[in-house]
Amino acid sequence: MATERTLSIIKPDATTRNLTGKINAKFEEAGLRIVAQKRIQLTKEQAGVFYAVHAERPFYGELCEFMASAPVVVQVLEGEGAILKNREVMGATNPADAAPGTIRAEFAQSVGENSVHGSDSPEAAAEEIAYFFSGLELVG
Ligand code: UDP
Ligand code: MG
Repeated sequence: MATERTLSIIKPDATTRNLTGKINAKFEEAGLRIVAQKRIQLTKEQAGVFYAVHAERPFYGELCEFMASAPVVVQVLEGEGAILKNREVMGATNPADAAPGTIRAEFAQSVGENSVHGSDSPEAAAEEIAYFFSGLELVG
């Protein structure tokens, strides 16, 4: 499998509970390398652009408000098959369905406040990385 990069976000429910280090440990233990990372405060509008694919879903407004409610940590993870591997480390969207040992099983509070985001395809990864990082910030 090829080396890939994927966009990860540690969401407000996790940054406010001081879980950044514990979540990063999960990525590193799985062989994912954090090649870029920054803590930022999104506006509701910026969150809305990021999650535009969900604009018609009933939870969209609440999701954008949540993502803008406190700082997030945006990061680029690199590794063999990183996109799928990260989705495995994250666990299912609803923590009630997440496999034991996954980030969402251990840390998520609800289907909305579920601690992490991860790109779901190579196309989404490229677009989402470019939304938050310039080429100069990706040192590998
Ligand atoms: N979400 C929600 N209610 C739902 C489904 C999703 O609040 O019924 C939120 C949740 O924070 C989720 C995000 O919207 O992580 C994006 O949804 P998606 O289906 O893309 O899940 P993910 O890719 O994050 O697992
Ligand atoms: Mg998604």
